[in-house]
Parts: sequence; structure tokens; C-alpha cells
Amino acid sequence: MTEEAIRAKARVFLKTEGAKFNKSPVDTYPDILKTIGAEILPLEVPSRKHLNISGVLLKGDNDNCPYIIGINYNKPDTHIRFTVAHEIGHIILNHLNRVEILFETASNFNLNNNKYNLLQRLEWEANVFAAEVLVPTNKLKQLIVKNLPPWQLAENFWVSQEVIFYRLLTINAHDYLKEYSEWAQKIQNKKTS
Ligand SMILES: [Zn+2]
Repeated sequence: MTEEAIRAKARVFLKTEGAKFNKSPVDTYPDILKTIGAEILPLEVPSRKHLNISGVLLKGDNDNCPYIIGINYNKPDTHIRFTVAHEIGHIILNHLNRVEILFETASNFNLNNNKYNLLQRLEWEANVFAAEVLVPTNKLKQLIVKNLPPWQLAENFWVSQEVIFYRLLTINAHDYLKEYSEWAQKIQNKKTS
């Protein structure tokens, strides 16, 4: 699926449940997920070794709830929000028709365009979906015109500064990024370290 087609699907989702999604605190997600047939459960992280798992997505065992999303609530709020939006992306883009189960780790949240194999491709698609849902292109453009600094954009959309950086790149906000070049450099160093 092309990037634009994924973003279009995200915008359709926003029209149905998105407004609620963007305003809701983390603990009201179950209401939002009901409409797409998913249940959200806290993920028990069995040991320190598994601490980097953000979530898991698998098929449910009945028609009322075709999908189960497990979330590691030990992560920061911004991370949890991104994980939930990412899992909704997997569901709406029908990825569980192609793989049995999806484990989410930090490396899955790489927003770069790495899609060399099926899993990387699916992760990238879910990330594009999540980024559009949490930081809608039109709203981001409106705030850039007001010249809000990037750390305030992150606060406004309740996402990490890395997500804001990625979104600024995808909408080609070159002038804005030039103005905040020191910040952009810092985020890039963090991403590659
Ligand atoms: Zn994923």
C-alpha cells in the first residue's frame, strides 16, 4: 500500500473515532477500540529481559472481539498512545491476515522508510498510520504557520519529539526545520545513538 493510501485510511478513521482518540486520556481507549472489534489488556512483562516490549497484537477467540491488544503500561504516556494507534493501524490495514501475531519492540517504532522484508513493511505501514492519526497533517500545518516551537507541538499532540520530527520531514517543512535546526540535530543524534 502506498504512503498516501495509508494516510487516507488514517483520515477516514479520524472522522469516525479520531476526535475522541486525540482528546482521551490513555485509560479511555477501551471505548474507542470497541468500534473496531478490539480489546485492550495490560501486558504482564515477565522479566527485565522483556521490558522493551511495548505491546502485542493477536486474534481474539470470538466474533465479538476479533482482536486482542496487549499494552505494556510501564512505558511513558506518549509511547503508549503511539503503540495503541500503531496497533489500530495493523488492524485497519488487515495485517493479521498476513501474519499470526505481532510483537512490538522499540525497533518496530523506527519511523524511517525501512521495508526490506514483510515484517518491516507492516511495521512501517502501521507507523505511518499512527503518525497520521496522532498528528494529522492539516492540524500540524496550521500550527506550523503559527510558528509554535517543536517541543510545544509535541506537547500539543501528546506525542514524543521524535514523532514530531518525523512528521515535519514527511510534510517537507524545510524552512521550519531550518529555523529549529539545533533541535532537529539533537533529535537526529538521539535517534541514531
Ligand atoms: Zn507493529
